[in-house]
Amino acid sequence: MHLARFPRIHLAHLPTPLEPLKRLSEALGGPEIWIKRDDCTGLSTGGNKTRKLEFLMAEAQQQGADLVMTQGATQSNHARQTSAFAAKLGMRCHILLEDRTGSNDENYNFNGNVLLDFMHGASAEKRGPGLDMNAEMEAVAERERAKGLKVYTIPGGGSNPTGALGYANCALELLHQANERSLKIDHIVHATGSAGTQAGLVVGLKALNAQIPLLGIGVRAPKEKQEETVFKLAQATAQKLGIPDAVQRTDVVANSDYIGKGYGIPGPDTIEAIEMFARLEAILLDPVYTGKGAAGLIDLIRKGHFRKGERVVFIHTGGAAGLFGYLNAFDYDRSWKLG
Ligand SMILES: *Cc1c(COP(=O)(O)O)cnc(C)c1O
Repeated sequence: MHLARFPRIHLAHLPTPLEPLKRLSEALGGPEIWIKRDDCTGLSTGGNKTRKLEFLMAEAQQQGADLVMTQGATQSNHARQTSAFAAKLGMRCHILLEDRTGSNDENYNFNGNVLLDFMHGASAEKRGPGLDMNAEMEAVAERERAKGLKVYTIPGGGSNPTGALGYANCALELLHQANERSLKIDHIVHATGSAGTQAGLVVGLKALNAQIPLLGIGVRAPKEKQEETVFKLAQATAQKLGIPDAVQRTDVVANSDYIGKGYGIPGPDTIEAIEMFARLEAILLDPVYTGKGAAGLIDLIRKGHFRKGERVVFIHTGGAAGLFGYLNAFDYDRSWKLG
């Protein structure tokens, strides 16, 4: 697996730290939990999309694009990181945001990631729920191309074979860190949505013959559908890397038991996970992805799925900027005033 064959703009702060979570591990009394800090990739509050964008934006630049477009949910971390990356390269950025939750909350609609999209100078337009957002985006791209602009479109979440290279790279980086420190990893767990993260990791781990089981905690689609999406993208990514037979269907495992009421709607277990990480480890999770991923991790530890003596690495994919869009998901005291 020779990633230097592909154009890449080195912008992320890599390698991201790999750290033990001592207090959380102790509180749960199960396996030793470690965290891979992809929330610390450095670009505009960080997150997993930055690794994908290193490859995607290099391709955009190589094609001479003067406008990049992408799409996501209102509080999309991907749209925010794309806006930021484009700002850094001096490229124009236009985003389509889908109202997936139907929330009228002012913070949800304008704070958090949305605030940052505009701060980075992106332009945006909104769509109602349930449309084919990639098709919506391509239609807008055609409109701009008709004006003579060279447009580079990035699918939702940056999840295509080019973007997934960023997570094949993460597998390489994580394994290197583990080997240097003689840290045997028994399991890797992370939140999975548009599938690029898991697809890239699966391909990278298989290409390196790591033999570490990978579990994606789904945040949107049912298990079967999520696994199929990841598998298809993993196959295409492996093809791109010249190892077409690297990934089998059984390598792709997702658990969608922690979605709760739906995408972008945190449940009580999501809030509990966010507060446990904040209070035991001073680490900020998010209400849409990592809070649900961690809720799955915690519940599976409580059920004995991951055991004492094992070592589990949770990949923190970022998203904390989204917390500020979810003020009302937390019932903290607002009655206090000047004494
Ligand atoms: C996008 C995102 C994910 C999921 O990654 P995919 O590659 O879309 O599956 C997880 N966590 C955060 C914070 C994200 O923004």
